[in-house]
Amino acid sequence: MMKKSTKVLFIIFCIFSFTSFINADTLKHLKDELAKDEANQASIESKQKNVQNKIKSAENEIKTLEQNIEKYENEIDDLLNQIDDLENDIKTKQSEIDSLLSFLQVSSGDNVYLEYMFEAKSLTDFIYRGAVVEEITRHNDELIDEMFAMIEKNKNLQAELKTKITKSEESIKDLEKKLKEYDVSLSDLEDAHSDVAADIKSRKKTIEYYEKIYKENNCKEDIDLVECITNAPNATGFVRPLTKGTISSEWGYRICPVHGREIHSGIDIAVAMETPVYAAAVGTVSGITRKSRCGGNIVTINHTVNGKQYRSVYMHLASINVKMGQIVDITTVIGKSGGGGYTLRRNGGWDTCSTGSHLHFTIKSGWSGSTTLNPRNFVNFPAKGRSFSSRW
Ligand SMILES: [Zn+2]
Repeated sequence: MMKKSTKVLFIIFCIFSFTSFINADTLKHLKDELAKDEANQASIESKQKNVQNKIKSAENEIKTLEQNIEKYENEIDDLLNQIDDLENDIKTKQSEIDSLLSFLQVSSGDNVYLEYMFEAKSLTDFIYRGAVVEEITRHNDELIDEMFAMIEKNKNLQAELKTKITKSEESIKDLEKKLKEYDVSLSDLEDAHSDVAADIKSRKKTIEYYEKIYKENNCKEDIDLVECITNAPNATGFVRPLTKGTISSEWGYRICPVHGREIHSGIDIAVAMETPVYAAAVGTVSGITRKSRCGGNIVTINHTVNGKQYRSVYMHLASINVKMGQIVDITTVIGKSGGGGYTLRRNGGWDTCSTGSHLHFTIKSGWSGSTTLNPRNFVNFPAKGRSFSSRW
């Protein structure tokens, strides 16, 4: 007897596995997804603009602050010059006072003031001349006081300017910290933007691919892709079976380290283990081989491309994701890449033909027979040794 709760869980599990098996994609859905991506791209672009403006205004602020600092420093220089001048003036005045004082206290030598005093013609004149000397001394004292006051004022101004400089320098530091943060978010946005851009490019190509099929089969846009393909599986062409990889070996005669001279039936694409492998065109799964000693897990798909029959073969897979007879299209992950690591010799000794992780991709003529064709005549692959990063 199954417990009630177990039964409920079982039903939920069945519903989930059933819904996840259904390919609910329609051409309309693909177009909606493209529209979402384009909206996302626009929003990223406006965020980029926003951050760029923030960077510009922070940079302008820093420029202004730096100009202010330069201005303050010039002002400080002026004040220091003024202080120097004042100190010199004070020295002059002080020596003037000193000589006047020395005249008042000690009358000796050929002092001009002494002569000035002795030249007095009367006592009144003498007193008058003495008063003039005192007046000059007093006046000079006052001047010196004023000058000291000005020096004090200049020193205060200088201190204020130094405070302003410190504050400006702190603001610059804050702004520079912000600028660093802006740079980080800008580069994040740039990454997101190029991701979306690549996504949009790929979606457009996918839509283009299906639009031809929908048109040929007279399918409405809201009809399921699989339904439209099943009515008449007439693919319009092959695309790359991986989103990324490096061409490591060509189709044709070659010297194989394992087999010597042989015809290499496909093209080898070096790619990391467990990378999703897609069907290269719309078709029906016609062959599944598991853990073969040479080739590992293998999937074969039958296609009708522009009215002609072909097969595509995917070798050295680490795992298989499709069933016999399943209708697949270029968005179907048929399995994951292998050919290296645990799929190589270790796991029960299968796939001994591979010398590293890669996908061996073959195109055969017809739905039977063994004639292989150069995949380059059907798929846009880069030159040997070169990498690609999209399906097209
Ligand atoms: Zn190969």
